[in-house]
Amino acid sequence: MRKLVSLVLPVYDEADALDRLLERLVAVIASLGQFRFEVVFVNDGSRDGTLELLVRKSRELPFLRVVDLSRNFGKEAALSAGICEARGDAVIPLDADLQDPPEIIGKMLEKWEEGAEVVLARRANRDSDNLLKRLTAKWFYRVHNSMAEPAIPENVGDFRLLDRQVVDVLVRLSENRRFMKGLFAWVGFRTETVDFEREPRHGGRTKFSGWRLWNLALEGITSFSTVPLRTWTYFGIVVALLALSYGLWLVMRTLILGVDLPGYASLMTAILFLGGVQLVGIGILGEYVGRTYMESKRRPPFVVRARYSAGAKSPASLRDAAAK
Ligand code: UDP
Ligand code: MG
Repeated sequence: MRKLVSLVLPVYDEADALDRLLERLVAVIASLGQFRFEVVFVNDGSRDGTLELLVRKSRELPFLRVVDLSRNFGKEAALSAGICEARGDAVIPLDADLQDPPEIIGKMLEKWEEGAEVVLARRANRDSDNLLKRLTAKWFYRVHNSMAEPAIPENVGDFRLLDRQVVDVLVRLSENRRFMKGLFAWVGFRTETVDFEREPRHGGRTKFSGWRLWNLALEGITSFSTVPLRTWTYFGIVVALLALSYGLWLVMRTLILGVDLPGYASLMTAILFLGGVQLVGIGILGEYVGRTYMESKRRPPFVVRARYSAGAKSPASLRDAAAK
């Protein structure tokens, strides 16, 4: 029996890129006849006709499956959904905008056949990103990896091959706020790398503004590190020691030189500084309390409205019931 390979693509308003994407996917699939393929599209609440287009295509292309989420859950959740739905012996997530060229899938499968359980696709250049994005990405990896265990590899996106064994572990992880890059690194397994040139986006526009990226970065660090919390302990100790020695010095001075009232400036500075420091500390605590709160609700990370394959529609609940 030929092995089954699942390609998983989260899509959010990607109607512009779909035709070219499918063309290239079909060519790649045709060139790799030693494997069977399924292509799982996860429609993450698109508003531009992406779903209709995909459903129409799924009638012509038997290997196409479409999972329709009930709203936009964000890329991390959509990717989780796709990985849960995939049935392949290997699962390869990729972006739908052709920034992850499907042509290197052959190389990834070769490494997999040689025994790798994870094959990372590493972008050899970041020319398709602007200077700001390149700099912030670099700093994100630096900060994240200095705080969090395990380190996440630089210049590697979600484009990678995951063996069935790895996927089974990922699916079992119970957290519902899922920072996929971190989870991918966390599961470990024997890892190989292939390099590729990242192309500019084909059609449509990026869904990740600066603010969204900033939040994703915070999500990543707070998911995988408690260093920001611990920092406050040390900072608190240092400030307390400084305050203590200043206090001692004040007492000594008063004893030797007598009472001396002026001190408005130093008092105000100390009060304002400490107030600010405490607020930042509480803010960081809040980040973690918030995370714990969200996790404690045990809500599922995504909700499926329906699934489509070879033109047939199955409501989510029916399939879920059948699977039990
Ligand atoms: N995406 C998604 N849900 C979202 C945002 C993005 O499924 O809420 C998908 C998007 O359709 C694309 C992939 O995630 O297939 C990567 O998004 P994008 O290309 O905008 O990110 P960038 O390459 O700019 O980092
Ligand atoms: Mg992109």
